[in-house]
Amino acid sequence: MSNCSSLLLGLTDIDVDLVGIGADGARDVRVLTAPAWVGRCPQCAVVSTRSKGWVVTRPKDVKVGPDFPKLLWCKQKWLCRNTSCVRKQFTESVPQIPPRARFTVRAKKEMAAAVLDGWRSVAEVSAAWGTTWNTCHRAVVAMADPVLANQLAPIRVLGIDETRRGKAKWETDPATGIRTWVDRFDTGMVDIAGDQGLLAQLNGREVATVVAWINSQTPEFRAGITHVAIDMSATYAKAVRKALPHARIVVDHFHVVKLANQMIDDVRRRTTQALRGRRGRACDPEWTSRRRLLRGVERLTDQQRQKMFHKLDTFDPDGDLVAAWITKELLRKVMACKYRGGLRYQIAAALEEFSRVHRRLQGPGDPHPGHHSRHLAAADHRGDRHRLVECPQRRLQPHRQTHRPDSVRVS
Ligand SMILES: [Zn+2]
Repeated sequence: MSNCSSLLLGLTDIDVDLVGIGADGARDVRVLTAPAWVGRCPQCAVVSTRSKGWVVTRPKDVKVGPDFPKLLWCKQKWLCRNTSCVRKQFTESVPQIPPRARFTVRAKKEMAAAVLDGWRSVAEVSAAWGTTWNTCHRAVVAMADPVLANQLAPIRVLGIDETRRGKAKWETDPATGIRTWVDRFDTGMVDIAGDQGLLAQLNGREVATVVAWINSQTPEFRAGITHVAIDMSATYAKAVRKALPHARIVVDHFHVVKLANQMIDDVRRRTTQALRGRRGRACDPEWTSRRRLLRGVERLTDQQRQKMFHKLDTFDPDGDLVAAWITKELLRKVMACKYRGGLRYQIAAALEEFSRVHRRLQGPGDPHPGHHSRHLAAADHRGDRHRLVECPQRRLQPHRQTHRPDSVRVS
């Protein structure tokens, strides 16, 4: 038998016997076990000569050409004649298609790679391969687990953030029968400055969860972390202070700018309510400018900016919304220092400009925002950067959102 077809298929442990076109237009490929594996016991590797008949299986393989060829594997069942072998009977199997496997090894690897490296969802890949979500997920787990079991390489900056997924629910452990509460929030641990990406995804967002993961790492790994980037969550800050007391806590730009944008939305809603006594509508100039207000100034043309200010002038004579917008842009300017080289005098100048505007915006009757800064100070004892960044937003916040004693969030 020529093995050209087998080589073309790329499976050397089986031989292509016949290829035909099925009723559905797909290729039916009848294959036989390669001579080297015929009658070989998978337990003791002794070749048997006592057949118990034939069986046909249909393992799925990778896409070859325009579609997935349908494999029909005709193989024999055998009795193992080795008296010392615990296996009395067996069906032929080959390394590329293990016993009872419904997919070839390479097909499972391709599915897992599509999820892990191709950034595709398990549901999408399983649908493309015509299999169930569970099968695809098992392939992903089989590929990911050995990698995750490896010791993490040292990192310098650890990122901690929460992710919401699905609904919170009770789950029952099939082995013990114990019911546990599965939080809808996960905590993601990320290597921000390196290339290891997501280090772990932990269920829950409590101090104990984060501390337990950090403590499970090696002392070298913990000692190598110099900075931890978090959102403005007091929980994460507390966990980091507890588990990594030597590391410096920083707030990442994304969350700071996100809060600034939320502040603009809050001021816009509050001003609309105060002036019009109702929620914003499509006929209101501030409502039509709501997205433009959130856009970075560098992404607005002169004409767009003038048009926006003209609209706001007629709507908001006190200039609250304009002040909020200016504050947001000055905050972004401070953040942008990093991209301009992060030189100390640049940062100092940007902070000074920010503080100057803040002082001018602060009216005499306004409550001093400093009473909230204890949380921010708690996030970083060694610097006042957070206070300088965050306090100006307080004045422009709705009152109801300024009382969160257990949180450093300012939105
Ligand atoms: Zn055997």
